[in-house]
Amino acid sequence: MTQLLERTSERVSFDDLEIGEIALDLDDQEPEDVIEWGLSTFGDRIAIVTALQADGMAILDMAVKIKPDVRVITVDTGRLPQETYQFIDEVRAHYPRTQWDVLFPEATEVEAMVQRRGVNLFRNSVEERMLCCQIRKVRPLVKALQGLDAWFTGLRRDQWASRAAIKKVELDHDHEGIVKINALADWEGDEVEAYLKENGAPVHPLYAQGFTSLGCAPCTRPIQQGENDRAGRWWWETGAPKECGIHCPIETGSFEHEAQAIFAEAERRSAR
Ligand code: SF4
Repeated sequence: MTQLLERTSERVSFDDLEIGEIALDLDDQEPEDVIEWGLSTFGDRIAIVTALQADGMAILDMAVKIKPDVRVITVDTGRLPQETYQFIDEVRAHYPRTQWDVLFPEATEVEAMVQRRGVNLFRNSVEERMLCCQIRKVRPLVKALQGLDAWFTGLRRDQWASRAAIKKVELDHDHEGIVKINALADWEGDEVEAYLKENGAPVHPLYAQGFTSLGCAPCTRPIQQGENDRAGRWWWETGAPKECGIHCPIETGSFEHEAQAIFAEAERRSAR
C-alpha cells in the first residue's frame, strides 16, 4: 500500500463518463484503496477537507499512512468550540508532516453581516443561518477548492437523506467539476469508531460528551437518545437540511439576495 508519491502540479481532470467508470471500479473497494487512488492520481492537487469529525480523522489517518505530508484544509469560522481549537493542535502534533491550511472567512464580509443582522443571526431564520454558514464557512472553502483538482470528504450515506446517494468518487459540479472523493461512503458510524480505536487515531473530545456531529459552538449540541447523528446541528430548525451548503447547494432566494448585499457592503468597506 505505502508508496512514494510524486508531486504533481499539472491539472488533472475527468469528464462524467470517465469518472462514472472509475466510480464503478472503486465503489466496492476499501477506503484505503480509494484514498490511494486519489493521492496517486492527484498528487499535491488534492486535500482532505475536514471539520475534525471522526470520519475526517479516519480519512486523515488512512491518508497519512500513504502520504505523510498530505494536505489538510479546515475552516476556523470564528465560532468553533474551544475544544476544537485545542484538537486542531493535537491532530497537527499527532501527524507532524501533514500540510495544513486553516482558512478564515473574509473579515469585511463577517463585519457587514454582523452589522446588518446581528452576531447570532442564525437563530432568526433558516435563511439567516444559511447566510452565516455561507459567509463564515462555505465561501472560504469554495475559494480553497478553486486551487484543487480533487478533495477528500468524510461524507457517509447513512448520515442524512441528502447524502444517501453519494458515490465514493464523483464529479463535484457545484465546484467547477473537480473530483470529490467520499472514501467512507458505505461505512457506518461504528465502523469509523472501531477504525479510530484500532489505529490509535485522535478523537475529538466532544464525542465523549454526547456530541455525534461537530460544528460551531452555538449551532451544535449533543443528541437525544434515538436521534440521527446530525440531529444536534441547528436543532431548532424544522424541515431544513442539516447542511451548511458546501456539500449541496441550498437556494432560498432571500438568503442569496442578502448575501449579495453583504458582499457589496464588504467591498465598500475594503475600499475605504
Ligand atoms: S454553524 Fe452556525 S455559527 Fe457556524 S457558520 Fe453556520 S450558522 Fe454560523
